[in-house]
Amino acid sequence: MKYQTAADAGYISCHACGHVQPHVRTHGHARCARCGSPVHERSPDSIMRTWALLIAAALLYIPANLLPVMHTASLVGNEDDTIMSGVVYFWTSGDWPLAVIVFIASILVPMLKLSVLALLAFTAQRGSTWRPVERTKLYRLVEFIGRWSMLDVFVVTLTVALVRFQSLAVITAGPGAIAFGSVVILTMIASMQFDPRLIWDPVDEDKHKPAQRSQDQPHE
Ligand SMILES: [Zn+2]
Repeated sequence: MKYQTAADAGYISCHACGHVQPHVRTHGHARCARCGSPVHERSPDSIMRTWALLIAAALLYIPANLLPVMHTASLVGNEDDTIMSGVVYFWTSGDWPLAVIVFIASILVPMLKLSVLALLAFTAQRGSTWRPVERTKLYRLVEFIGRWSMLDVFVVTLTVALVRFQSLAVITAGPGAIAFGSVVILTMIASMQFDPRLIWDPVDEDKHKPAQRSQDQPHE
């Protein structure tokens, strides 16, 4: 690959103001020459922070699906709904497009985001050189979806509330909704903590010493 990075040339960029400057290696924090914020070559402890947030999100994904997300009190009676029971309700009552939307937004997408971030953290941690372009694209995809993450919560609550209960009913969020919201937020922060440049570091190392690496490190 024919390219040179700023880091190769001894430059570092500021997270806060974007100023690119010569990397002065000092003891303690290096600071931006222009705005004074700390500068790092790579986000510190990026992978460990990503893991911590991912594990928390994965654990909360369990109550998010098992506990009721919605409690409905109406003249007909009280009812607790989990995400899945909502999907099943829509499916069996013939509202299959809604069943599909709720299933994708609140079960499939959060699970895919968690899996993709776990894959990225795992491969970056192992210094893998496996398909860096595809992994970068996956990261961009998760980042892109992240902007719309809150939509998951809205889709679930609004569609269920609007379609199912046009009549008089008091709808309150169940404990599952809090867990679900936490999963969405934690996953979003996890994707922010992951430093995508880590995907390319092992690849660039390979570029510098191609003969040595390709022999002793089997590619996945
Ligand atoms: Zn700066």
